[in-house]
Amino acid sequence: MNKRVYLQTYGCQMNERDSEEVLGMLTAQGYELAEHPEEADVILLNTCSVRAHAEERAFGKMGELSVLKRQNPDVILGIIGCMAKLQRETIFKRLPQVDLFAGPAELYDLPYLLAEIQEKRQFRGGGGGAGGEGNGSRVIAVERTFRPLDKKPAGDYRKPGVTAFVTIMEGCDKACTYCIVPKTRGQEISRPAQDILDEISQLANAGYREVTLLGQNVNSYGKRFPDGSGYRGPLGRLRLLEENPGALLDFPQLLRMIDASTRQTWGQSPFGNSSLRIRFTTSHPFDATPRLFEAMRDCSSVCEWLHLPVQSGSNRILRAMRRGYTREAYLEKIERLRRLIPDISLSTDIIVGFPGETEEDFRQTVSLMRAVEYDSAFVFKYSPRPGTEAAAREDDVPREVKEERNQVLLALQDEISLKRHRRLEGSTLDVLIEEPGKRPGQLFGRTRGNHGVILEGSAGWIGETVSVRIATATAHTLFGERCNGFSH
Ligand code: SAM
Ligand code: SF4
Repeated sequence: MNKRVYLQTYGCQMNERDSEEVLGMLTAQGYELAEHPEEADVILLNTCSVRAHAEERAFGKMGELSVLKRQNPDVILGIIGCMAKLQRETIFKRLPQVDLFAGPAELYDLPYLLAEIQEKRQFRGGGGGAGGEGNGSRVIAVERTFRPLDKKPAGDYRKPGVTAFVTIMEGCDKACTYCIVPKTRGQEISRPAQDILDEISQLANAGYREVTLLGQNVNSYGKRFPDGSGYRGPLGRLRLLEENPGALLDFPQLLRMIDASTRQTWGQSPFGNSSLRIRFTTSHPFDATPRLFEAMRDCSSVCEWLHLPVQSGSNRILRAMRRGYTREAYLEKIERLRRLIPDISLSTDIIVGFPGETEEDFRQTVSLMRAVEYDSAFVFKYSPRPGTEAAAREDDVPREVKEERNQVLLALQDEISLKRHRRLEGSTLDVLIEEPGKRPGQLFGRTRGNHGVILEGSAGWIGETVSVRIATATAHTLFGERCNGFSH
């Protein structure tokens, strides 16, 4: 009988995509998917270290798994992703029976690492034993500085559906003082453009209708490729732009290549080229340039939506976070973008309670949110991450103050979202139908601006882009009905 793998994912879209890749590699090796950990021969937790809360949830799960592992010592227990890289000592204490640690840069090694554990066990004659200090078949792989993006083992796994993620770069070279990602995910590395184009074309042929390009900072795509090529940094990019723009492969150029290739693939289709939608996340404001905005404007497959995390509206805090831009520079970028793409929909991330954040700093964030009028925003309470620069500073904003600022911003964003959504009432929008809604007879889809829409309709519309007249709006959802005929 084939071995069975159970994988649970914590954290962001990058982690979700990593998990799909891991399951793809393992199913290509003959593994089957288990729905519950009790049924699995291999149990993997793909973990996140961005905030303490995500780590606590994974630790809770590890507690449950330690009971399971005691009952069945033969099972292989693996911790993969960010916590494998950073929290090994604590995990040893809580879950001494763990057999495998693989960091984000080592995920492509997983098939070999699992084989290594099995080999060690065979050699030792028997299962994994009760583990603990005596777990001699344990394998630890956490040392790579970046993931070899051009060397992914065969196999991929995606749930059938309408939308899909495609990784275009890994790691992060920024040094935001609060953020653990550069330590866990390692150096920035971009995936060869042809691999990305091939994957998108396969997804389109398999019936996916929307692709989200993923990276911690997609705007620095092209800085460094696995073969050592790349423009190397902002100065290198500028130099190439002046001297030999045709030779520059950066993110705006990648968008144009993807758009041209989807048009080639879909040009003959009765649905026209907008049949495949492209989104991307995340954009760092420092690297989001007019060249990007122009590419967004020119590429019809690229949706009118930009997630541009600002983190704070106070220059003092932005400096302490080492974000590399000021409030004024950020607002100017937004203004430029809106001049080029007036109906652009914007979202952001904000951290409240960063060390030293005063009432005045917070007011600056409130005023920035009012000035920009985002369509949606994620608000996070600052969580000190051991090993980051900010963690060396006193976490001096009391918990209740963080909570209160969080609530103020959520309420403010609801007010703004409602206002933005109300503007859409009465308009007709292209909605890509993604899945059944929560109630029978309802469907859920998204506009190009990433607004969730609920409408009545038949399950046969899933995967189609339909014209929807928006009737009413709440802060979080649009409600509408389909106009006659399919959109493109
Ligand atoms: N690379 C993206 C960027 O630069 O915007 C974001 C990556 S991070 C995984 C997602 C969000 O988590 C960040 O935008 C930030 O708002 C939040 N975040 C990161 N570190 C945090 C911390 N220590 N405490 C609270 N929120 C944090
Ligand atoms: Fe973290 Fe900053 Fe890199 Fe985003 S850009 S992953 S917030 S260090």
